[in-house]
Amino acid sequence: MRIAVLQFAHETVTFLPFDTTEEDFRYPGSPASGEALLATDPKGYMGGFVQVAREYDGVELVGIESPLWPKTGTGSGWITNEAFETFVGRQIEELKAQGPFDGAYLALHGAMGVRGVPRPEAEIATRVRTVLGPKARIAATFDPHGNEDEEFLRQADFAFAVKYFPHYDMHLQGERAARMLVRAIRGDYAPATVTRRLPILTPTVLQWTGASPWADLIQRALVWEAREPDLFVNVYFGFPWSDVPDAGMTFQVTSNGKPDLAERVAEDMARWAWRRRAMSSATLRDARPGDAVDVAIGGRVDPSAGEPVRITGEILLVGGATTARAKGKGQDWIAIRFGAGNVVVLSPFLVQIMEPMEVWSLGLDPADYDVIAIKSRVHFRRGFDDSGFAPTILLVEPDEPFLGTVRLDALPYENLKATDYYPYGGPADPFAV
Ligand SMILES: [Zn+2]
Repeated sequence: MRIAVLQFAHETVTFLPFDTTEEDFRYPGSPASGEALLATDPKGYMGGFVQVAREYDGVELVGIESPLWPKTGTGSGWITNEAFETFVGRQIEELKAQGPFDGAYLALHGAMGVRGVPRPEAEIATRVRTVLGPKARIAATFDPHGNEDEEFLRQADFAFAVKYFPHYDMHLQGERAARMLVRAIRGDYAPATVTRRLPILTPTVLQWTGASPWADLIQRALVWEAREPDLFVNVYFGFPWSDVPDAGMTFQVTSNGKPDLAERVAEDMARWAWRRRAMSSATLRDARPGDAVDVAIGGRVDPSAGEPVRITGEILLVGGATTARAKGKGQDWIAIRFGAGNVVVLSPFLVQIMEPMEVWSLGLDPADYDVIAIKSRVHFRRGFDDSGFAPTILLVEPDEPFLGTVRLDALPYENLKATDYYPYGGPADPFAV
């Protein structure tokens, strides 16, 4: 099994005044080829790929001459068309000269910006595909800041993107690329992929995966991968500093011959991200009393929760969580004043208020409010109802069918039909003789 190994990676800040030239990619050690290329970046993508590929007998890796990262590092502007054509041109010539190959591994980044080439990574894959032919398998690794649309996986079979920011799992994604490439070449894996783009562009400073919403987004991808063997979910946060047509958030899902599953998971990931697009926890994290806020709240967990609601007002106070389970998490509750004397208290985690004191101890005064709205099922009754606190309690239903309320016929039952039950249908009288 002969596998060509190529690299061409850059995170291009196209707004910088100076282009990245061919000379920027030329320095001692770069370009690299053969074993020197395979030995670069042992803790990164290349290291992971080479390590696992060499666990298999009969696999030959051929390092094709490749430029390493330019000496300008990550902060440099448009790659000139000349530089791109020079290096990719040489790679293609070498592929032709050294072939045939059963497959290729492309160590890419995804946020490369090249003058005159709108989708450089897809362009590289297209040219490699042309040389290797339709039967060859092509796998690539990506940075989560890649800007990719559908075009890449039209040409390549696999993409494996790092999930964490900071980028902790580069070696792991290289390992996966090797394993799946070998399996696909052997006919043990038939990649069926779906790419889904979302028109979301986010500043990278907010993309820390240690906090919500990015932590939750990645967790969802990890859960899908845990639930479904041979399923891979890529989350591209996108790189907004690259002025390219496919900039922004993209999901890629790869399954072993299950296009329907890939479609379902891609849809789930995309919808999840879209619902939480307005979540501004990163902004509210540093909230101070008196700050003006314009934020969309709610609608985060499930489509049945409806669309987020926009609140414009000011931060009234920031206080520590008071409930026992919430305490000690180091996460603050934030009260926002808006409209005519309204206050909404936001919690960064799911919580059901049980005692009025949990609200008042934040610094709010019960005398200031006529109505208190609580998201709860029954738990609130302990302190608000059984205690005699609230003279009147109204149960309010959202417009959308919502898990936990009374519209059970909206639930996706598979083993029963809601219409077989009262009050959702007209079941036969079980006591009829
Ligand atoms: Zn990155």
